[in-house]
Amino acid sequence: MNAKPEIAARPDELVSIDPATGEPVGVVPPTRAAEVDALVARAEAAFRRSGWARLRPDRKAAVLHEVARRLLAEKEPLARLQMRDNGKPLAECRAMVDAAAGAFRYYAGVIETHETEVTPPRGDYVSMTVLEPFGIVLAITPWNSPIMNEAQKVAPALAAGNAVILKPSEDTPLLAPELARICREAGLPEDQLQIAQGTGEAIGAALVAHPGVRMISFTGGTDTGRAIARVAGARLVPAALELGGKSPHIVFADADLDHAIAAVASGIFGSSGQSCVAGSRLFVEAGVYRAVVDGVAARAAAARVAAPDDPAVEVGPLASFRHRDKVARHVAEGLREGGRVLAGGTVPRGGVFDVGAYYAPTVIECLPATARLCQEEIFGPVLVALPFRDEAELIAMANGTPYGLACGIWTESFKRAWRIGRALEAGSVWINTYKQSSISSPFGGFKDSGLGREKGTDGLRLYGQVKTMYFGLHDAPFGIAR
Ligand code: NAD
Repeated sequence: MNAKPEIAARPDELVSIDPATGEPVGVVPPTRAAEVDALVARAEAAFRRSGWARLRPDRKAAVLHEVARRLLAEKEPLARLQMRDNGKPLAECRAMVDAAAGAFRYYAGVIETHETEVTPPRGDYVSMTVLEPFGIVLAITPWNSPIMNEAQKVAPALAAGNAVILKPSEDTPLLAPELARICREAGLPEDQLQIAQGTGEAIGAALVAHPGVRMISFTGGTDTGRAIARVAGARLVPAALELGGKSPHIVFADADLDHAIAAVASGIFGSSGQSCVAGSRLFVEAGVYRAVVDGVAARAAAARVAAPDDPAVEVGPLASFRHRDKVARHVAEGLREGGRVLAGGTVPRGGVFDVGAYYAPTVIECLPATARLCQEEIFGPVLVALPFRDEAELIAMANGTPYGLACGIWTESFKRAWRIGRALEAGSVWINTYKQSSISSPFGGFKDSGLGREKGTDGLRLYGQVKTMYFGLHDAPFGIAR
């Protein structure tokens, strides 16, 4: 594990800062632009010569299962490392290690059952589809849930037989080398998974443009995704994009309001709002608007904001001071536009708050649905609340952003849930629940929230190209016109 090193970073080194304390946690040397060719050449050699791509599915699965086992065996130190790398509460970090192990276990199972499909004969042949790896897959990840995001790309990409180059966020560089070490120790061939460290501009962009990279899997901001898609489009390599969101969380008057209020609060304040599916816009049917919004604001005010290793923590720090300041700027702008604060809206002071990157859980109302605070992803613990009178108004407002990642609907009416769920432009719809996520269900966005689906069996197909093989069964020679 990464023991806390003597921190004496050179100006060109990446330093991970613990956002709960402001102290450095670790230093990693960035990959230099001049090293990119060699990195890609090693991945190419691993892909061509390691035998991984053609390894029997059961033997590949055994390695992936072993990765899962080792991740769980190291759960506590990995969770603590992630907690210091990005400030998430320890319990959440433990759950992320579980999710990372779950991804390896799941794709170990999937490759044993999903690699080939035989299609029924339609003539004097039989055909069969096989999934071929692309070669080198480039995985680029953000800072909000490093070990989980990284594993959910690496596991299916390896399962499909590729060599993987993983570029983690420069803000959270410490987990990816641990994942690569564990994969090696579990029996993955040398260089089948390599880590490239550095900023998006310096190293991410160089890898995206590299002719050896044959598929790109990106999770991060929408503008970055668009820039990557432009390069991938010109190169004609597929790019799977998991991007931002501004997800609506909707409460109808007939809902179980206590459950809805609790879910709305945890849907935006969990992970300090640094979740792509955070329910950041609350829409409440007019008759119960005041009760629901005041209920959520009371929960925001009462939430225990604390250090991530405090056993009672509900809301920890944001992942960096830079990001905390960005959240504060968004809120200040919302207030200038006429927003009214019902809870939070401040940087808390005193004790741990004076050394860490904290922001108070915040609820704001009185803004039009077109205000910037209601349109742009903030990626912090900031909820905007709006009333709606009827379904038509709700759907227009809820669909009225460029995003389409997720939504939540609280109602006791199955028919209404179905109607609204189908009308909303979102890749995930939660009905009378929120933020549930299973590795066996596909996940991804509509509109500017992304392209492609990770997880589930779709998540394996993402990392392979379908090849159809025909086997002739005809006894007679071919005629000219068949
Ligand atoms: P970001 O787009 O700034 O960076 C993401 C990654 O891309 C980093 O590793 C960064 O170094 C790299 N990068 C930046 N510019 C690049 C370029 N030109 N070429 C190649 N790589 C480049 O995002 P972030 O601030 O790290 O993460 C927050 C964003 O991630 C939010 O918008 C959030 O919604 C999104 N996110 C989405 C999901 C999802 O599954 N949809 C999950 C988590 C986070």
